[in-house]
Amino acid sequence: MKRIAAVGLGLAALILGGCYTVPETGRQAFILPIFDDAQMGAQAFRDVKAREKISADPQANARVRRVGERIARAVGADLPGANWEFVVFDAPGTVNAFALPGGKVGVYTGLLQFTATDDELAVVMGHEIGHATARHGAQRMTEAVGASLLGIGLSEWLGDARNRDLWLAAYGVGAAGMILKYSRDHEGEADEIGLIYAARAGYDPRAGITFWQRMMEKNKDGRKLPVLLSTHPADANRIQHLQSLMPRVMPVYEQHRKDD
Ligand SMILES: [Zn+2]
Repeated sequence: MKRIAAVGLGLAALILGGCYTVPETGRQAFILPIFDDAQMGAQAFRDVKAREKISADPQANARVRRVGERIARAVGADLPGANWEFVVFDAPGTVNAFALPGGKVGVYTGLLQFTATDDELAVVMGHEIGHATARHGAQRMTEAVGASLLGIGLSEWLGDARNRDLWLAAYGVGAAGMILKYSRDHEGEADEIGLIYAARAGYDPRAGITFWQRMMEKNKDGRKLPVLLSTHPADANRIQHLQSLMPRVMPVYEQHRKDD
């Protein structure tokens, strides 16, 4: 009887501890309270930096830091314990970016070439950072491993390099050949959160529409698809959703555009 009570208490603690309120949207999500996101993010980011070629181009680095630091200020308390780091990876053919919990952001030079303005770069970085503040990766990990994890040593599980790769893939970073697609719901939510961050940082959120329209064009030519498209489908639904968010985000932009 005692043991049953203890298990019941444990489960209750797990469920209560696992309720996460997504910033900016207020959605309640269940996340197993076992993921030390910031610590995992920092470790995974070290792995990526060791694997990829880091750009020393002063202009590219200055641009990413300029935009990134303004967005980081706009994120504020949405990412507790963030230790922000912005790194440019030298890969002109790679139109991609990612953000890991803990405030670790990677931008590929291919994306810098593809984004016509800082406004466009800001909405893409805001979107990726939105995945991190919403803890979408941890939610996906919860879905994938929640049940099976209960029976085994958790620290052991997270310490395993293969599981670290899976975790990395859950944040859209291709690791060990894996790229997990975000669900449509998570994509939509990251679009919403990202536009809010961009607007609050003083960047024009309408750039989200032009950026994804141009991505859609890329989609059509079909020959050389940007990496970003493999994890972020660009279609009419996405554009329509972005347009529907404008009444909410344009006033935020108008309020913050003179901040800099
Ligand atoms: Zn996304």
